Amino acid sequence: MSESNDVEEFAALTISLKRHLERRQRAGIRFMPKDNPTQMKPVIVKEESLLGGTVDDLFADTAEAMQAQTLDQLRAAIGDCQRCKLCSGRTHIVFGVGNPHAKLMFVGEGPGRDEDLQGEPFVGRAGQLLTDIITKGMGMKREDVYICNVVKCRPPENRNPEPDEVAACEPFLKKQIDIIRPKIIVALGKFAVQALLQSKVPITKLRGKWHSYHGIKLMPTFHTAYLLRNPADKKWVWEDIKKVIKELEIENA
Ligand code: URA
Repeated sequence: MSESNDVEEFAALTISLKRHLERRQRAGIRFMPKDNPTQMKPVIVKEESLLGGTVDDLFADTAEAMQAQTLDQLRAAIGDCQRCKLCSGRTHIVFGVGNPHAKLMFVGEGPGRDEDLQGEPFVGRAGQLLTDIITKGMGMKREDVYICNVVKCRPPENRNPEPDEVAACEPFLKKQIDIIRPKIIVALGKFAVQALLQSKVPITKLRGKWHSYHGIKLMPTFHTAYLLRNPADKKWVWEDIKKVIKELEIENA
């Protein structure tokens, strides 16, 4: 390799590292991965992944995960995750559950107590309501769809996930979507909507209308935990779900 190529490569590496550190700083991430960085497997991936937009980062500690082709590979790459401070209080990483080829995917905020104990998303009271929506409302089985969350570890006392926690975990959600490639995503509540649409517009304004997540139809609606506190708003979720049912019928036609 010529000297000028070496210089160009070094300049590209420096820019990539600088961008990565700036992104981490903006996200408020102060933790470095526990692994010995020399044992990590950096890869140069030039193109953005179809849905993620995160794999152009030469130094990403998610690099291995970004190469996963299946959900099992992705789960294995996440490992005993220590990438953010939520790891210290969790019982289980709650990765996701359901059909790896699902046409319909539900994305929530993060595991609660029941989910943390059982290692499965949406199994507590809010989860039962979601299961009712899927089974009684949509006439589907829970196993037909895929269900996961923005953050995979329970925030202490069910507090909202913090920006550094969302930033650390979001690439895994995006990769899950990339692998499953559902036709429709239902984003449950503010955090899922904000993470996927990168929008600060209130959920009350976004819900009930179709949005696009990299070409995938995305329907924002209220979170089922919110519905437990505000049952009068169930009618709005039903309106949103009816639109999803109609779209699925078109997809299945
Ligand atoms: N709320 C969520 O957002 N996710 C769960 O898995 C359970 C409750």
